[in-house]
Amino acid sequence: MRTDRTFTMLKPDSVEKGNIGAILEKITASGFRIVAMKLTQMTMDDAKAFYAVHSERPFFGELVEYMTRGPIVAAILEKNNAVEDFRTLIGATNPAEAAEGTIRKLYAASIGENAVHGSDSDENAAIEGAFHFSARENVLKNILNTKKPSITEGFFML
Ligand code: UDP
Ligand code: MG
Repeated sequence: MRTDRTFTMLKPDSVEKGNIGAILEKITASGFRIVAMKLTQMTMDDAKAFYAVHSERPFFGELVEYMTRGPIVAAILEKNNAVEDFRTLIGATNPAEAAEGTIRKLYAASIGENAVHGSDSDENAAIEGAFHFSARENVLKNILNTKKPSITEGFFML
């Protein structure tokens, strides 16, 4: 049986501060497997579409500015109970309220610039993963459904 997936972004503040390595280490040490990953940058249209659910909120303009001001790391992660466990790992939206040891407690500066994104449901994880990754980039897509191959084996199967 396939394990669950979630989608994350290491937001521009994490990249600017040089925190990519530390955050990825925390994610993989917590049992998440990286299924797809890239350094990319969102356009204004990308950010408006990605956060469309928040378009009427007062912080929307700032959120779009922040999310487009520099590169992000986008990744699809896999683990049993991925969505819920990843939300626990990142902590509350506001780092002041985030539990000790969570990524936002450790690396976020404010409720706006809060270091990482984590999908809030299985449905949104799939939508958000597909927003950032083509089927071809999602290289381990089908292989992990059936068995546990080596990466090399996976590439031969493409
Ligand atoms: N955000 C903000 N001010 C707020 C709430 C949220 O700037 O009062 C930003 C913040 O970057 C957050 C994002 O908007 O991560 C999306 O908000 P959401 O409520 O979905 O929080 P999340 O799911 O990221 O914890
Ligand atoms: Mg959210």
